[in-house]
Amino acid sequence: VSKRDYYEVLGVSKDANEAELKKAYRKLAMQYHPDRNPDDKGAEDKFKEANEAYEVLSSSEKRKLYDQFGHAGLDRNAGGGGGGAGYSGFGDFEDIFSEIFNGGFGGGFNSSRNRNQPRKGGDVKLYLDLEFMEAVFGIEKEIDFLRTENCEVCTGSGAEPGTNKKTCDKCGGTGELRFRQRSLFGESIAVRECDSCHGSGQTFEKACSTCKGHGIVKKRRKVKVKVPNGIDDGQMIPLRGEGDLGAKGGPRGDVYAVARIKEHTLFKRDGNDVVCDMPITFMQATLGDEVVLPTLDGKVKYKIPDGTQSGTVFRLKGKGVPILNGFGRGDLYVKVNVETPKKLNDKQKKLLREFNESVTIDAYDQQNSFVKKVKDMFKN
Ligand SMILES: [Zn+2]
Ligand SMILES: [Zn+2]
Repeated sequence: VSKRDYYEVLGVSKDANEAELKKAYRKLAMQYHPDRNPDDKGAEDKFKEANEAYEVLSSSEKRKLYDQFGHAGLDRNAGGGGGGAGYSGFGDFEDIFSEIFNGGFGGGFNSSRNRNQPRKGGDVKLYLDLEFMEAVFGIEKEIDFLRTENCEVCTGSGAEPGTNKKTCDKCGGTGELRFRQRSLFGESIAVRECDSCHGSGQTFEKACSTCKGHGIVKKRRKVKVKVPNGIDDGQMIPLRGEGDLGAKGGPRGDVYAVARIKEHTLFKRDGNDVVCDMPITFMQATLGDEVVLPTLDGKVKYKIPDGTQSGTVFRLKGKGVPILNGFGRGDLYVKVNVETPKKLNDKQKKLLREFNESVTIDAYDQQNSFVKKVKDMFKN
């Protein structure tokens, strides 16, 4: 497989300088980045090709080898630290890409412009424990959780009250830290927000003793949550703007309350349907009976017909769980199981035997059919 010339890949001349290489690479990387071209193999290949070309040409050593010997000169030396041009997976590219755009280009795309923009606060995820019936019919619940608040003592400044502000020692008041970082592309200058002053360029003579200078503290927050009827296990209720504080005037994050529903002693949910297993006696199954069924709304009378087989499922339409954010309800399925009596005394056993002798196999459809099948099978 013949490889394209790296200069050609980037669309630059043989004597392109570092800035021209970066510019050309950045344009291609932006164009073919997988995030912008989902499921496009062609774009993915172009992206890899551009990465490889830039990786080589941006390193003066590798570029020299390439200029002299072409691709052959790089077979052993390409790639940072012994990987060949070994791009093992896409994760690598993501890293490289973010590395470039977070620093390598010295401010093209990066933090120094975005740093002072408002940022939304973090989201808070919590579990909301619900009883089975609470989830079925909805309820208002109070939840409490920890989230960040501005420190009341220093009103969020981080300075001990009564002390003065001063220029940040760490960044000299610029609010950003620049440092060299080594990457596959060689050395570059990365710019990061100063962690000492959080980008403001100012610190204080004495840090607030309550928040240790962070300006924020974790506080317990109580909120009422309206749990909609029909919510199922694992579904989330979003509470917009109830999460952690934003930065630089950005909005608070959100809270996600994840429903965790307790099991019921009688009912099991299957989406909006509810299933209930009910034991009945041999007598009830045989002669039929009017029984009392438990439903989500209370007890109802139900007529079990005579000759009911074990495992029969009765459907009670519209007696299930209300449909979340919709209309109507699921169904209730009652499955009856014939329970075999145990611990019978001698008299009871004798009565059963007498009864059994009085019944012919014609009373048993399933046995009748089974016996016939067995006979057929062993005819010869
Ligand atoms: Zn600073
Ligand atoms: Zn404070």
